[in-house]
Amino acid sequence: MVRELAHFIGGKHTPGVSGTYGDVHDPNTGAVQARVPLAGRAETEAAIADAAEAQRGWGEWNPQRRARVLLKFLQLVEGERESLARMLSSEHGKTVADAHGDLQRGLDVVEFAAGIPHLLKGEFTDNAGTGIDVHSLRSPIGVTAGITPFNFPAMIPLWQAAPALACGNSFILKPSERDPSVPLRLAELFLEAGLPPGVLNVVNGGKEAVDTLLTDPRVGALGFVGSTPIAAHLYATAAAHGKRAQCFGGAKNHLIVMPDADLDQAVDALIGAGYGSAGERCMAISVAVPVGEATADALVERLKERIGQLRIGRSDDPQADFGPLVSREALDRVRRYVDIGVNEGAELVVDGRGFTLAGHEDGFFAGPSLFDRVAPQMRVYREEIFGPVLCVVRAADYEEALRLPSEHPYGNGVALFTRDGDTARDFTRRVNTGMVGVNVPIPVPVAYHTFGGWKRSGYGDLGQHGPDAIRFYTRTKTVTSRWPSGTKEGASFTLPTMG
Ligand code: NAD
Repeated sequence: MVRELAHFIGGKHTPGVSGTYGDVHDPNTGAVQARVPLAGRAETEAAIADAAEAQRGWGEWNPQRRARVLLKFLQLVEGERESLARMLSSEHGKTVADAHGDLQRGLDVVEFAAGIPHLLKGEFTDNAGTGIDVHSLRSPIGVTAGITPFNFPAMIPLWQAAPALACGNSFILKPSERDPSVPLRLAELFLEAGLPPGVLNVVNGGKEAVDTLLTDPRVGALGFVGSTPIAAHLYATAAAHGKRAQCFGGAKNHLIVMPDADLDQAVDALIGAGYGSAGERCMAISVAVPVGEATADALVERLKERIGQLRIGRSDDPQADFGPLVSREALDRVRRYVDIGVNEGAELVVDGRGFTLAGHEDGFFAGPSLFDRVAPQMRVYREEIFGPVLCVVRAADYEEALRLPSEHPYGNGVALFTRDGDTARDFTRRVNTGMVGVNVPIPVPVAYHTFGGWKRSGYGDLGQHGPDAIRFYTRTKTVTSRWPSGTKEGASFTLPTMG
C-alpha cells in the first residue's frame, strides 16, 4: 500500500485534484513508497491567493515577533532531527549521516534569518539638506515562491523560506516531486511554531505548477535551484513577467592539486567531495586537476586504491560511504556518461557501471568510476554527470590549471590544494567562479555569507543566504523628509539639490 501525499495550503493538508501523480521511490529497493499529487493551474492559483491574503497580516508583524517563530521552529526541529534525517535518506538515497548535514545546513540559515530585527535595519542620513533627513526602509515583496531540486530537500527549501519569511513575505514552496516528504514536514513544523496559516504553502507538482508560479502577477519574486537549462528558462520567463528572480543551475567543480600540496589531504578531499552523496551535490568535485605528470601519476594511483576501499550500501547502513542514486533515470544517465567517456578516449581507471548491491538488485546503485587523461573538449568534462564519476584532467603547469575552471561554462565552486600562500592568493583573485576553497574541498559558505555560482551555474545578481538574501527578499524604499517648520522659501521650479 503506497502512502498518498498532499499539498499543504492554508495550514492544512490539501489533497490533489488534478488527477496526476508522481511516484516517490525507495532508491534502495527501487520500489514505489508514496505517490505525490502534481498540482494543476487552478490548485496553484488557489495557493497563491491564499498566500497573498496571509501575507497582509504577516507583513505587519514586527521583525522581532517574526524572529520568534523561527526560533520556535528551530526548537521543534531539534526534537525530530533523527526522524527527519531518516525520512530524507529514505526518499533521496543519501546516507542518514549525510541527511543530518543536509538538515543542519538549512537550520544554519534559519538561525541567520532569526537575526532579522538587526538585518532589516535601514539606512539614515541626518541633515542631508537643511532640515532634510533621508532614510531607507526594507519592505517585503509580498508573495514569493521557490522551486527546489531533489538533492537537498531540507537545506534548499530552508535557504529560501527562512529569509523570505523573516523579511515579512509569504512563501510558496514547490519542492522536488522525487522527495517531497521532508519539505512537507518542515512546513507543518513552521505552523506549529506559530507561523500563521497560508504564510508558507507547499504545492507539489511539476512543470504546470511551476509555470503558474512563473507567470502569475501576484508572485513578486522567484527562487529556483536545479539544472541549468531550466534555470536559464525560468530566469528569462520570470523577468519577462516582471518578477525578480535568482536561478541556480548545474556545476562542474574542479579541485586543483599543486605539486607542493599535501597529497594525503588532497586524496581525502577528492574521495569525500567526489563520491560523497554519490556525487549528487551541486558542490561535488567532479574534476581533479593535478599539476605536473609526477603529481598526476601519484594522485591517480592513490585515488584508485582508495576507491577500491569505498563502501556502497543502503542509505540506512551506518557503514556506507554512499548510497544509491535518486532514480532509475539518474542511474541510466550516469552509466551512459561512462560509456560516452570511454568512446571519447578517456582512460577508465575504475569502472562502476556493473556494480550491484547483493539483495538490492533493483536499487539505484552506481559504483564509483574514475577517468584519467580526460581532455577539455570531451562531453564527460564539459557536461554535468551528477553521479559518482571523477574525471582527472592533467595540467602541465599552474596557468593551465587556472584556465580550466575559469574557462569552463559552469562556475559554481572550485578548490585549490597547495601549501603556498602566494599561489593561493593569486588563484583566489583570478579564478572565474563564484566560490573558492583553499585546502577546503566543498567551499559552501557559512549561512551569514552569501552562496552563489557564476556563469551557467547562476542567473541573477544576488546569491542565496547571507546579506544577499535580505536584499533579494525585500524592496528598498527611500524616504526624504522635511518638517513644516523648515519649509520657508515657497514654491521652487528648479530641480532640488542639497547644495
Ligand atoms: P531539475 O532541474 O530536474 O528540477 C529542479 C526543480 O525544477 C524541481 O522542483 C522540478 O520539479 C522542477 N522542474 C523540472 N522540470 C521542469 C520544467 N520543465 N519546468 C519547470 N520546472 C521544472 O533538477 P534536479 O534533478 O532536481 O536537481 C539536480 C540539479 O540541481 C543539478 O543540476 C544540480 O547541480 C543542481 N543544483 C544546483 C545547486 C546550486 O546551488 N547551484 C544546488 C543544488 C542542486
